[in-house]
Amino acid sequence: MGDPKGFMTTPRQEWPRRPVEERVRDWNEVYVPGALLPIISKQADRCMDCGIPFCHEACPLGNLIPEWNDLVSREDWRAAADRLHATNNFPEFTGRLCPAPCEAGCVLAINQPAVTIKNVECAIADRAWEEGFAPPRPPERLSGKTVAVIGSGPAGLAAAQQLTRVGHTVAVYERDDRPGGLMRYGIPEFKMEKHHLERRLEQMVAEGTKFRTSTAVGRDVGAAELKSRYDAVVIATGARAWRELPVPGRELTGVHQAMEYLPLSNRVRQGDLETSPLSAAGRHVVIIGGGDTGADCLGTAVREGAASVTQLDIYALPGAQRDEDTDPWPTYPVRLYRLSAAHEEAGDLRTAPVADADARLFAASTLRLDGDRQGHVRSLHLVEVDARRRPVDGTGRTLPADLVLLALGFTGPDRADGLVDQLGLDMDPRGTIARDPGFATNVPGVFAAGDAGRGQSLIVWAIAEGRAVAAAVDHHLTGSSRLPAPIGPYDRPMAV
Ligand SMILES: Cc1cc2nc3c(=O)[nH]c(=O)nc-3n(C[C@H](O)[C@H](O)[C@H](O)COP(=O)(O)OP(=O)(O)OC[C@H]3O[C@@H](n4cnc5c(N)ncnc54)[C@H](O)[C@@H]3O)c2cc1C
Ligand code: SF4
Repeated sequence: MGDPKGFMTTPRQEWPRRPVEERVRDWNEVYVPGALLPIISKQADRCMDCGIPFCHEACPLGNLIPEWNDLVSREDWRAAADRLHATNNFPEFTGRLCPAPCEAGCVLAINQPAVTIKNVECAIADRAWEEGFAPPRPPERLSGKTVAVIGSGPAGLAAAQQLTRVGHTVAVYERDDRPGGLMRYGIPEFKMEKHHLERRLEQMVAEGTKFRTSTAVGRDVGAAELKSRYDAVVIATGARAWRELPVPGRELTGVHQAMEYLPLSNRVRQGDLETSPLSAAGRHVVIIGGGDTGADCLGTAVREGAASVTQLDIYALPGAQRDEDTDPWPTYPVRLYRLSAAHEEAGDLRTAPVADADARLFAASTLRLDGDRQGHVRSLHLVEVDARRRPVDGTGRTLPADLVLLALGFTGPDRADGLVDQLGLDMDPRGTIARDPGFATNVPGVFAAGDAGRGQSLIVWAIAEGRAVAAAVDHHLTGSSRLPAPIGPYDRPMAV
């Protein structure tokens, strides 16, 4: 701890965002470039180096937060980068994209704003790249064992990097044309610019990981054949089976799933398309679903130049403070009013014709969608609901809508490629791939990690799963492993 009284003398200060008017005219990250480094050492000084650091417990990776806060407050960036990379393969991803359950568990957060842990993590990661503290780390010798990792999202990438670094020969199979999973074609550029992903992929290639893109296992290569060619297989195919909206009018044109809409916009940014065929430009957009995927649609539609954008949330407007009965410290408060960058933009620009807060209507349930004679959606009818989702009389409302985006979450792995059936994998009652405590499926030599096994989750959990499954696979191949396993497959976020 550089300054034992830092938490008393220094107020919390976050990485400032660029002005709304400026940032909605481009797709770059929302933060002011270069504005984090000058403030971050003082912010790290706010860490109290607690005897029992709950932040550390709240982070699925077990990031050694007080240790690197201390190193940053002393400006020892090399040591900070080493400590951070000891537990996290991809801190520049989590430093930008993680909802930071660590900050909800920060001891300072009991009665003060938490330490800006996520910002400190990002600063260390960025500095490590700038200073060359994150070189490729190829193995000293090869084990002679081979592993196929199916899926190149954060879980597959973390598993592949860990296994490559201990000497196994790893090939990552990806059905998309580029690796990255949801970080490539789901998450928009304004949350994380893709060059961060490219840089890590280059590092992985230099270490020896091989990538086989545009190859859907189950469709382009048989799953059983693949299994016979490798000593072990890790399935990290994500949870892409989306929830549907069973209301009249769902079949109209102009009604799309979020994961049909967001990848096209990301492809425009990657230079694959001139414009998105589903662009929101000039259209009245309604997003159904109050989560992060909906917020990503919101920020994208605003940048595409929508005529109006409204986001509907079935839950009531949450409070600005954590509810100490349902979500006491140090748990992560699920129901809390949070103003993401996209909500801030939509609120400032008044994109919604009517809204309870920023661009959102809360306790809003969609009754039906109406279309024109050509079968194109034109309006959305909704009603307010109570806590038990019963309609409240007299609250019916109609919104103009010629692009409706469904962001209702995901139920489990997408089974269309046939991978699950070809291998004869057992599924658990939630619809995800069943695993034993060692991440092994019912098929010998086949393991499952990330959203495919856990269900829809977060990048930090996916990286933790990738690290843990790598330890399990290494043990399976060699009889022992020194790789860390930060979580088990049944671990869940801290809760009361
Ligand atoms: C729009 C959106 C925004 C999100 N934003 C955030 C955020 O800001 N912060 C956060 O922490 N989390 C966020 N999440 C959640 C997070 O992205 C996921 O939890 C995480 O990516 C899961 O990682 P994964 O590796 O398990 O799967 P994925 O990232 O889904 O990757 C799975 C990969 O497997 C490939 N694949 C599937 N089947 C096959 C096959 N048969 N053969 C070959 N390849 C296959 C897919 O193409 C994909 O590339 C978001 C999710 C969505 C949908
Ligand atoms: S990965 Fe997420 S939870 Fe862990 S330290 Fe970083 S921001 Fe916090």
